Amino acid sequence: MAEPCTLTGAPGVKLISWRGRQARAGGLAITGAFSMPEAPELEVVKDYLNERLVGREAVAARVLRPSVLRSLQGDIAEDVVGRTFGIVERRGKYLLLRMSGDRVVVVNPKLTGGLQFCARKQRVYKRTCVVIELDDEIDLRYVDDRQMGMYYYVSESQLDDVPGLDDQGPDVLDDQDFDDFKERLRRFHGEIKGVLTRGRVISGIGNAYVDEILFAAKVYPFKKRKALSDDELHRILDCSRQVIVEATETVRERMDGALDRKLRDFLKVHNKGGEPCPDCGNKISQLTANKQITSYCRRCQPGMLIRN
Ligand SMILES: [Zn+2]
Repeated sequence: MAEPCTLTGAPGVKLISWRGRQARAGGLAITGAFSMPEAPELEVVKDYLNERLVGREAVAARVLRPSVLRSLQGDIAEDVVGRTFGIVERRGKYLLLRMSGDRVVVVNPKLTGGLQFCARKQRVYKRTCVVIELDDEIDLRYVDDRQMGMYYYVSESQLDDVPGLDDQGPDVLDDQDFDDFKERLRRFHGEIKGVLTRGRVISGIGNAYVDEILFAAKVYPFKKRKALSDDELHRILDCSRQVIVEATETVRERMDGALDRKLRDFLKVHNKGGEPCPDCGNKISQLTANKQITSYCRRCQPGMLIRN
């Protein structure tokens, strides 16, 4: 179950959580399958923090579960005191929280991590890993059920040392030139779904939204990159941005009330196996591999599944 979002007794202070169990996938009950935050969720969290975190001073810090923390600036509990938060930036699936005096907190939540911006009196969850105490009795906490995500504390020049951060392609929300997109794709030979979620060609897309993008583009998710026509590639590029822009607005509206486990119920195909396709009415197909769900419409996105 997802956590509640709005904390009682602390108006305007919310839990920012992306947790949401996908109880059933492909007819099999899956426990511990989490929704990874993708560009829409992280974009909204970024804006949320930019409205509330910027200008706040760190008064203390505690590391409760050190396994998620990589500090290249010594003991965060000592070093962070007295620093003030600046602008929050998103790069693909990473959030960069800048602080005064050349420090950056980089959060890569992966499948199970999330941030809490909450009143200090709020109960500290068992899965809380790092707490930065701020002025006005507010905490910025990093929580992670399975400690799969990462929390880095570095200087600006050390951002190069954060694994994966610089390997990402242009952001899905940025305008992209088709020829550049095609050129970047050339290096990858696998199925288009896997190529897109890897983040090297376009960043910010994960397992859920890629299904939505390929559905909108009418492209079979398991089609090999080489087999895609220019027309299909154009549709993929156009739909990537369009789907994420629309989803970001929906997520933004929904977070205004409560961020609950139905946050992605507005998706058209992802995790909707067996339900009618919103375009043609055919039953949505769903496969699960390595706890990753793929949902698509066989009629709208025709193709042949080739098993190796
Ligand atoms: Zn369909």
